Amino acid sequence: MIPFNIPPYTGREDEYVLQAIHSHKICGDGAFTQKCHDWLARHTGAAQALLTTSGSSALDMAAILCGVGPGDEVILPSYTFSATANAFVLAGATPVFVDIRPDTMNIDETLIEDAVTDRTRAICPVHYAGVGCEMDQILAVARRHGLKVIEDAAQGVMASYKGQALGSIGDYGCFSFHESKNYSMGEGGAILLRQEDPRAEMVREKGTNRARFLRGQVDKYTWEVAGTSFLPSELNAAYLWGQLELADQINAARLHSWQLYYDGLAPLARDGHIELPYIPDGCVHNGHMFYIKTRDLAQRTALSGYLKQRGIGSAFHYVPLHSAAAGLRYGRFHGEDKYTTRESERLLRLPMYYGLTDSQIAQVVEAVTAFYRESRP
Ligand SMILES: *Cc1c(COP(=O)(O)O)cnc(C)c1O
Repeated sequence: MIPFNIPPYTGREDEYVLQAIHSHKICGDGAFTQKCHDWLARHTGAAQALLTTSGSSALDMAAILCGVGPGDEVILPSYTFSATANAFVLAGATPVFVDIRPDTMNIDETLIEDAVTDRTRAICPVHYAGVGCEMDQILAVARRHGLKVIEDAAQGVMASYKGQALGSIGDYGCFSFHESKNYSMGEGGAILLRQEDPRAEMVREKGTNRARFLRGQVDKYTWEVAGTSFLPSELNAAYLWGQLELADQINAARLHSWQLYYDGLAPLARDGHIELPYIPDGCVHNGHMFYIKTRDLAQRTALSGYLKQRGIGSAFHYVPLHSAAAGLRYGRFHGEDKYTTRESERLLRLPMYYGLTDSQIAQVVEAVTAFYRESRP
């Protein structure tokens, strides 16, 4: 059996979680959280980095900090996770979906400006598979229209665009440390801020200035702004620290696995059976995902069933948000859905996790190759 995903684990997590327990500090913002904050700021160049309880809550926090509210519109791709749109819908805004580029599955940067109205407040690009969106063009549109940019970099930890860490390029960046991501704390995430904002700590700590109090900067803490509890437990931060410390090693292993897939499946791509992922110049990815594209939905279903019979897990991805029940209720698609639906139906993700072995990858490559050799429909 080769599962589709196994949550990352390095072996150091046990010790760190025990340390957190025995230090009698298991609520948020203890020593492990601080280590993670320092690591995140140092590795991304962000002015401020704060752990959150999920990638979703990092997006929620970004929506609050941006001041997105009722009547506003936010531009994002439809090919993404529900969390990207939820943050804005919960704030009372309307998600406006635009089409993706078929080569990267990222928002098509050339279609964004046409979707801007006088109600548009922000653009939320999603770096699919840890491959950067065309941020130069996106930032230029944002500047021309006075919009905020919130990067959904849930899949983008350790990846970069033109030398800048994903998540540190727009006004806000959101990471996820869910168990399906490259670095994990079970459930968790982080928000990165390009410019330090004293409101961020308060929004994250029930609207209070408790962080300043803990640093001895004020002698009591009080309710200052509207906020909620976005900070994770030290137990989760301790688990994450066991991985951030070894981030280079995890990243290198994933890139190695990704390249083995790419090289192993190249003959099938040459013969026109499948398409392989594309990494634009200037983008350094992080091996978050390895996907292939089949001819169509029917072939993807057949291939996924064939792999399952051989004990190999695979997974398709998002049902485009504009076609889902909540998307129909809360959002709208601007322009033509030329690629979003069509390309999403062809995409199949292959097993990818820290600890996946070369021989397992060879088995998956062999199984995919056999499927096309037996010339299924
Ligand atoms: C994983 C993910 C999220 C949300 O992360 P959670 O930590 O599960 O809340 C948001 N956007 C994208 C693109 C993701 O892949």
